[in-house]
Amino acid sequence: MVLGKTRFGPAGYPEAAKNKLTSVFQILNEAHLNALEYAAVYGLKLGESRAREIGELAGKHDIHMSMHAAYYVSLASRDDDVRERSKNRLIKALHFAPLMGVKRIVFHAGGYSGLNPKEAYNVVRDAVLEVWEKAGHLGEGAILSPETAGKLGAFGSIDELVKLCSETEGTLPTIDWAHLYARNQGDTNDKDSYLRVLERFEGALGRRFVDSMHFHISGIKYTLRGEESHKPLGGRWGPDIVPLVETVIEVGYKPTFISETPNPLRGALYAKALYDELEKMKE
Ligand SMILES: [Zn+2]
Repeated sequence: MVLGKTRFGPAGYPEAAKNKLTSVFQILNEAHLNALEYAAVYGLKLGESRAREIGELAGKHDIHMSMHAAYYVSLASRDDDVRERSKNRLIKALHFAPLMGVKRIVFHAGGYSGLNPKEAYNVVRDAVLEVWEKAGHLGEGAILSPETAGKLGAFGSIDELVKLCSETEGTLPTIDWAHLYARNQGDTNDKDSYLRVLERFEGALGRRFVDSMHFHISGIKYTLRGEESHKPLGGRWGPDIVPLVETVIEVGYKPTFISETPNPLRGALYAKALYDELEKMKE
C-alpha cells in the first residue's frame, strides 16, 4: 500500500500573492492545491525568522513543502571555488529545510564541465557524499533530490540518477518529465515509456522511492541539445501528461506533481483537474 496522497502545487509563489506570505498559502488553499516548491533558484536569500514563518504557515495550511536550490549549483565544475560554493548552497539548504517545513531539496547537479560523464559522475557523487556527511543531520529528515536534466550536456540522465541515489545516503530523484522528454528528443511520451522510467527507479531504490515520488511537469520546447524553454501544459507542446496521470492512477502511485509551466499555478490546476477527471472515470 502506498501511503499519503497525490499532491499538486506550483514551483514558486503564485503571482497574485505578490510575495505576501499569508496570501501565498491562502491562494493555494482556495485553489485546492496542497504542495509548494519554494524557489530558491537564485540562492536562499531569506533570514531564519522568515523561514520559520513559511514553515508555520505551510503546516497550518497543509501545504507539502519542497525547495528548489540555486540554478548555479555545479558540483562537477573544474573551478574549485565554484564546487565549494555549490556544496555550501546545498548545506545551507539543509540548514533551512526544517525551519521551512521542507522535506526535499531539489537541485540540478550542473554540467559535465568538459569531463566525460563517467568522471563527472564520480565528482558529483563524492560531492553529494561530502555534503551529506557534513550536513545531512541538519535537514532533520529532509532529503537531497537531484533532478533529471533537460540538456544533454548536463548531469542528470536516468542512469546517472539511479546510480547516484543508490550509492549515496539521503538522496531520492526528482523526475522532471519535460526534461526527460527534451533530453530524449521527444521519447518518453506514452504509458509504456512512463512506466519503464518509474519501474527502473522503483527496481533500484524500492519503497523509499515509491513512498516519496516527486515530479516536475511542464510543456517544453527543445532542440538537438535538449531543453530550450518551458511551455504550458495541455497545448501543442509535449510531453503528453494524460498517459502519465493515467499510469499513476492505474498503478496507485501517490506522487507530488510540481508544475513548472510559465504560469505554474495554472499548470498545477490543469494537472489536478486532469487527475480528478481521470480518477472519476475509473470509478
Ligand atoms: Zn524541473
